[in-house]
Amino acid sequence: MSIVAIVGRPNVGKSTFFNRLIQRREAIVDAVSGVTRDRHYGKSDWNGKKFSLIDTGGYVVGSDDIFEAEIDKQVELAIDEADAIIFMVDVEDGVTGMDQEVAELLRKSKKPFFLAVNKVDNSNRVNDAMEFYSLGVEKYYTLSSINGSGTGELLDDLVEALPDEAEKEETTLPRFAVVGRPNAGKSSFINALIGKDRFVVTDIAGTTRDSIDTTYNQFGFEFNLVDTAGIRKKSKVKEDLEFYSVMRSVRAIEHCDVAILVCDATRGFDGQVQNIFWLAQRNNKGIVILVNKWDLVEKETNTTKEFEAYIRKQIEPFVDVPIVFISVTNKQRIYKAIETAVEVFKNRSKRIKTSELNDVMLPIIQAYPPPAIKAKYVKIKFCTQLPTPFPSFAFFANLPQYVKEPYKRFLENKLRENFDFNGVPVTIFIRKK
Ligand code: GDP
Ligand code: GDP
Repeated sequence: MSIVAIVGRPNVGKSTFFNRLIQRREAIVDAVSGVTRDRHYGKSDWNGKKFSLIDTGGYVVGSDDIFEAEIDKQVELAIDEADAIIFMVDVEDGVTGMDQEVAELLRKSKKPFFLAVNKVDNSNRVNDAMEFYSLGVEKYYTLSSINGSGTGELLDDLVEALPDEAEKEETTLPRFAVVGRPNAGKSSFINALIGKDRFVVTDIAGTTRDSIDTTYNQFGFEFNLVDTAGIRKKSKVKEDLEFYSVMRSVRAIEHCDVAILVCDATRGFDGQVQNIFWLAQRNNKGIVILVNKWDLVEKETNTTKEFEAYIRKQIEPFVDVPIVFISVTNKQRIYKAIETAVEVFKNRSKRIKTSELNDVMLPIIQAYPPPAIKAKYVKIKFCTQLPTPFPSFAFFANLPQYVKEPYKRFLENKLRENFDFNGVPVTIFIRKK
């Protein structure tokens, strides 16, 4: 899926615009998962074209000074990672020095970018926008993120510029993405995994996006590693902000089947790691959590158990995820880690025959039917797995609207108990019979 990044100074209206575009979908996601979410990453679509949207400003917290120091890096990263960029400016402020700086960076890149002049809430302000031609663009878009006017024209041209979704090459090999915060040990893990320093940190400019999969055959497992730009460009950008690790994770995660989430045992499973976890979950990707640097942790009888319980608490309700404790330095459980990732891949590609599914699930449903609502009895008569790339199931009911979230979770748990979807998000739909 294409990635669109919104860049611009603080307070020009980036997050207002972002929220307008993803509102509808986010509401749905929230109702289903009930989990905390990253408010700066979401999916949107326009004219039938889907894209991921990243509000880069959302990751830069702090004063204007901090932003100024980071702006080059932020825009560069957007140029590296996004397929198209929305550059937002504020008609109330007019052209600022920082706007000129950003414009120059964008002009020098080959990435399509769209200049959005925001806060044009009424026609009086349309004329004020003219001065933005001085940023050297052929065209700009006047809009009001608050009332929505003008956004359609921008989106029409934006999605036009996005690459057509090339049919993904059908591969039966698992595609793994190794993700996590800076310094968790991702590159060390990859090096240990594939032997040799295949992932040497290099700075080859203009490395193309086209071949992001590399096939490896290790320990008798064949798999593809989805390259993460973060590894390649490590020496170039000091990745000290959440923004960088999350943004770099987005593309890798969207392209993988299984996200191998590396966390640093000495740092715990904090909000930033969780963001990456939910990113994978919301994309319906398989997940393996590796707790790395386990050699550095002082261990007592229950240390592993307790650490595991602590992580599971953070990832509720999606707790059916494998957690492997490793030490890359001591080469401990690297094999186990990859073996687990392969199992998760198999779970994600699992197809259950409709007859088998009904044989297992219908008696369970009969024994514990959905609670009656307003004296109406809900009957589920049939279920089937849907032909999606990730496990999803449709349960057919006479009154689908009466089947609530807790019961769906019950169904999901029963599916997990009976069919092993360890590490894989499972989606349940209740449909009208
Ligand atoms: P960000 O820092 O770029 O993400 O900016 P925000 O989205 O937080 O917006 C900054 C301020 O500008 C908020 O007070 C918004 O309500 C306001 N704002 C955003 N869009 C518009 C708009 O289209 N018109 C007007 N008048 N104000 C807006
Ligand atoms: P990345 O930024 O996630 O790719 O992290 P690196 O692979 O560059 O590792 C960051 C630091 O952690 C390096 O100094 C590694 O040597 C160190 N490191 C990685 N794995 C382990 C481990 O299992 N144990 C210990 N003690 N250090 C590790």
